[in-house]
Amino acid sequence: MSHDPNCLFCKIVAGQIPSRKVYEDEQVLAFHDIHPWAPVHVLIIPKLHIASMADLGAEHAGLMGHMSVLAPRLMRELGVTNGFRTVINTGQDGGQEVYHLHMHVMGGPRPWAKG
Ligand code: 5GP
Ligand code: ZN
Repeated sequence: MSHDPNCLFCKIVAGQIPSRKVYEDEQVLAFHDIHPWAPVHVLIIPKLHIASMADLGAEHAGLMGHMSVLAPRLMRELGVTNGFRTVINTGQDGGQEVYHLHMHVMGGPRPWAKG
């Protein structure tokens, strides 16, 4: 399924739910997390509905590479100069709450609320 009408992040991709957008291209969208753990907390998501990292196949290698390369670029553009943290929660034991694959990218001066 490329789009799940019941999925929160698919609704954000479709513009049905507003977000504070940081970056967008044909493959991905990046926006600020609504409950940031850190001074800068961005989520990078594929536009394609992929529920979690557990659903990745070899065909998604380029997409995941694109998301990984985007993370440092967005941190630089948002003024993060002293390092950042990337997190992908997967499944129940991984603490995943929204079942549309997303990479958390967090930075800015500590202390942070979490993480
Ligand atoms: P997970 O626990 O699935 O890795 O992370 C889901 C993240 O999505 C959480 O950090 C949460 O704050 C964020 N989130 C949930 N709903 C929304 C929303 O409607 N808008 C935005 N921008 N972030 C959301
Ligand atoms: Zn989705």
